Amino acid sequence: MSKNRKDTAKTVEELEFLLDRDGWICFYCKMPFEKSIVWHRSVSRDHLNDNPNDNRLENKVLCHQDCNIIKEHFIDWKILALEKLRMNEMAISPEVTSAMNKAKVDKSSQIDINQIVNKETDLFLQKFLPEIPIEGMQNWLDFNDTADSLTELSQNKFSVGSQDAYKRALSARCSSAGKFRKVEIDGRFRIYRKGN
Ligand SMILES: [Zn+2]
Repeated sequence: MSKNRKDTAKTVEELEFLLDRDGWICFYCKMPFEKSIVWHRSVSRDHLNDNPNDNRLENKVLCHQDCNIIKEHFIDWKILALEKLRMNEMAISPEVTSAMNKAKVDKSSQIDINQIVNKETDLFLQKFLPEIPIEGMQNWLDFNDTADSLTELSQNKFSVGSQDAYKRALSARCSSAGKFRKVEIDGRFRIYRKGN
């Protein structure tokens, strides 16, 4: 895999994280992003503390390019940005800390859970969005309903697998490198197999 391809995957992953966390709106003007294919051209990633070397996710938000430029001269938005950074740090840190502690305590079981989540996600998508479409079968799945179903199935079968883990697994499969795509319709996300 070339460096570029890796960077793209990482960028998509980061975008999805920020969209999940903050929604499809500009952090500064609170207006929704255009839902067109080229939406990313007008969207930029702002460093909340204005330090371009601080690339923690907690230090990033999505906003319009125009709003990013306005922020440079608008103290209210700079204050808003620092408050958001503080909130992000509080929200993310305990989770990350506990995940890291858990990994230290039992690294292998965490890997097993990831394997279960990935396998269950693949099986589910293969079953309900088969490569060769079945006539009369719906060719899309609701993203959130799918995550809920997978979580419930997984909890019943294995007593592990959080909804977040399944959402991450689904998002990864809908990234540019994945076999599926995520489409927003009437405020909900649908999963389609690419090419169908
Ligand atoms: Zn804006």
